[in-house]
Amino acid sequence: MAKGLLIILSGPSGVGKGTVRAKLFEDESLNLAYSISMTTREARPGEVNGRDYFFVDRETFEKKVAEGGLLEHAEFVGNYYGTPKDHVEELLNAGKNVLLEIEVQGALQVMAKCPHALTIFLVPPSMEELERRIRGRRTESEEIVRQRLAKAEREIKTKDNYKHVVVNNTVDQAATDIAAIIKTQLQAAQ
Ligand code: 5GP
Repeated sequence: MAKGLLIILSGPSGVGKGTVRAKLFEDESLNLAYSISMTTREARPGEVNGRDYFFVDRETFEKKVAEGGLLEHAEFVGNYYGTPKDHVEELLNAGKNVLLEIEVQGALQVMAKCPHALTIFLVPPSMEELERRIRGRRTESEEIVRQRLAKAEREIKTKDNYKHVVVNNTVDQAATDIAAIIKTQLQAAQ
């Protein structure tokens, strides 16, 4: 069976990656599977362990790193995040197109290991809009909001490392653009 396509979706915190991803998953013809990350961050209200993330303590995370169980990992605003390797491999071998929604340090690690990965960076229409979206979440302290905004500015500067940059003006338009990019890549691989 042909292996599936590995897709990296990055973009600053608050840009709307999760919402765009949910829209993309409505299109069954894309044959997508989501790689659930492991993190040491606290779950936000409404987040479910094993669906949104595997929420673990630092010790468990560090053990996973030491075992070589992560495809990539990074520290982001005081917490660890990483992609469990086995699950991604199983899904790719089953022919699924696997979406990693990860920040830029981790994305660079995956690009080095998997140069054929399809890489997409989602940008906000403006920094003002990004700030509005991050503040709109209302689950984080002012200090964390400021750290996430400063991080976003640094992350956006790395967008040229990605094969495609998509502006998230509206969820529908961004999802349509990304679906078209994925379909073009899948056709080229046939
Ligand atoms: P949040 O705390 O807002 O859920 O995520 C913070 C950042 O970490 C986001 O940019 C998100 O895409 C990224 N992220 C989520 N999972 C992973 C992962 O497994 N690896 C890496 N490197 N980043 C991740």
